Amino acid sequence: MNDLKLIFATHNLNKFNEIKKMIPHGIKVQSLTDLNFTCEIPENENTIEKNAIFKAKFIYSKFNSTVFADDTGLEVDSLNGKPGVHSARYAGIKRDSTKNNEKLLFELSGIENRKANFKTIISLVHNGKVYLFEGKIVGKIALSQKGSHGFGYDSIFIPDGYKKTFGELDPNLKNSISHRSIAFKKLMSFLKKISDLKN
Ligand code: IMP
Repeated sequence: MNDLKLIFATHNLNKFNEIKKMIPHGIKVQSLTDLNFTCEIPENENTIEKNAIFKAKFIYSKFNSTVFADDTGLEVDSLNGKPGVHSARYAGIKRDSTKNNEKLLFELSGIENRKANFKTIISLVHNGKVYLFEGKIVGKIALSQKGSHGFGYDSIFIPDGYKKTFGELDPNLKNSISHRSIAFKKLMSFLKKISDLKN
């Protein structure tokens, strides 16, 4: 049987590499680089869900082929869920993770409640229909940036049950418990179900 082909609508190589390690046999995931698509994908919606849907639909409209996109936000309890959908540009229009992390640490200085969660929504567009898959991991914001693995907010997020940030933990461990991997596993089991139905 032919591999099921999916496009992952992201220009973020860190995300693509995380996903690549989790792809089961029988599924082929193409990156936008594989497709020579370099145009920026707009991300101007006001929720994580809507951004994920917009990105997947945007790429589906270009290639008319099954596509998924993820949108992720870091939601901090004592900041009423901020930066949330604004995570990428928290410290300014230019996406700058170091500045985002510094801004967040500054806003939390002196605040005891550092509870936070990463939330990923994966949106799949398959045969023109949209399906959503959510992944969440709960933890807390560290007192300073630590570790050099990962990307984005990884150096300040300590998942519950661990004493180290995602930036310090083994990337394979992050990949086995992360928000993105939870959402991706749900996507994979959905795809398995629909392809079993066809066989
Ligand atoms: P987006 O989903 O690419 O829009 O990401 C929003 C923001 O969250 C960006 O600043 C990313 O760097 C950050 N981000 C996304 N996924 C992760 C992750 O797995 N770890 C840490 N930061 C992330």
